[in-house]
Amino acid sequence: MKNIYDITLAELQDTLAAWGEAGFRAKQIWQWLYERRVTDFAAMTSLPAALRQRLAGHFTCGVLRLATEQRSHDGTLKRLYRLEDDQLIEAVLMPYDDHRRTACISSQAGCAMGCVFCATGQMGFARHLSASEIFEQALHFASLLEAEGERLSNVVLMGMGEPFHNYDATVAAIKRLMHDLGIGARHITVSTVGLVPQIRRFADEGLQVTLAVSLHKATDAERSALLPVNKRWNLDELLAACRYYADQTGRRISFEWAAIAGQNDTPQEAHQLGNLLAGLLCHVNIIPLNPTGGYAGQPSDLTALNRFMHILGTYGVSATVRVRRGIDIDAGCGQLKAAVLKGQRGQPGTVIPLAEL
Ligand code: SAH
Ligand code: SF4
Repeated sequence: MKNIYDITLAELQDTLAAWGEAGFRAKQIWQWLYERRVTDFAAMTSLPAALRQRLAGHFTCGVLRLATEQRSHDGTLKRLYRLEDDQLIEAVLMPYDDHRRTACISSQAGCAMGCVFCATGQMGFARHLSASEIFEQALHFASLLEAEGERLSNVVLMGMGEPFHNYDATVAAIKRLMHDLGIGARHITVSTVGLVPQIRRFADEGLQVTLAVSLHKATDAERSALLPVNKRWNLDELLAACRYYADQTGRRISFEWAAIAGQNDTPQEAHQLGNLLAGLLCHVNIIPLNPTGGYAGQPSDLTALNRFMHILGTYGVSATVRVRRGIDIDAGCGQLKAAVLKGQRGQPGTVIPLAEL
């Protein structure tokens, strides 16, 4: 069966014409899919029952199957989806007080980049996701919010996997988020560990997407120890690509800094980072480390981070400390899957097992 989210309106029109259906039906179905965002043919109540049945016999309405979900005390919703080949991927919906609704979605099952503190990196790489598999994660949240009278406003590709390792599918999915879900490029963020050729290529796509770069360390030797990709493209090359992105797009780069107590939150580190970024159009997002089973580091405390931010400020570099949402439901990258596979889910939060894992 074909996935309805994989076909174009023209292809749907052809199929319906071959079935002898009236010309307006394809547009009607399109509206159900992308404006009303229903994810089930049965819910397309303006269609004749026979047509709904025929559609259901011919197309799947997406390929993601919900395996489990958890809702955090702060409203964060974390979902684990099972793909057709039984791979598991995570997607998170984060509500903010200012009415933003942000979906954090995955680009790969696992990840090949091997960052030592990351739960996904610790699992290794399974496979790339298709553009539809990436897109549908956001679509499901959009559909859920629609039913509650709300709208998905932002999407970040910061879930499992390295989006630029899966470049073509990532770009295709971003275009669909823009065109089919109506999410503006400026409300989409791609996070990369630093694949330099792809950052340059992405700069040339002519999209106004926000680029987030996972930095975490400001010297090559130390960064290479945490993020093996730094051995391939060092900080000089990475920063040059970031400058190119900022120049081409006029967009401010976000740098991610997973703050690890005593490792990258000292005044010395702050000065190194300040020197590295001074003069660049950028912002640093400091996220206290979410501890994972495979890495001994602990999150920094707020006193250290306030001092760190203050020093960055003296270089003219702006920074914010972001509290990780859904911390009580393993909402760190790859952590729900890791916990579920081990049979030990995170502490509070509601666990709703919807399928056998
Ligand atoms: N592969 C991409 C996007 C997915 S990871 C990248 O690395 O940028 C999204 C962000 O979560 C990255 O900044 C990553 O470094 C960070 N991250 C991974 N594990 C983390 C952890 N245990 N605690 C805090 N941040 C983490
Ligand atoms: Fe992959 Fe990003 Fe995790 Fe590194 S931090 S292993 S690039 S998902």
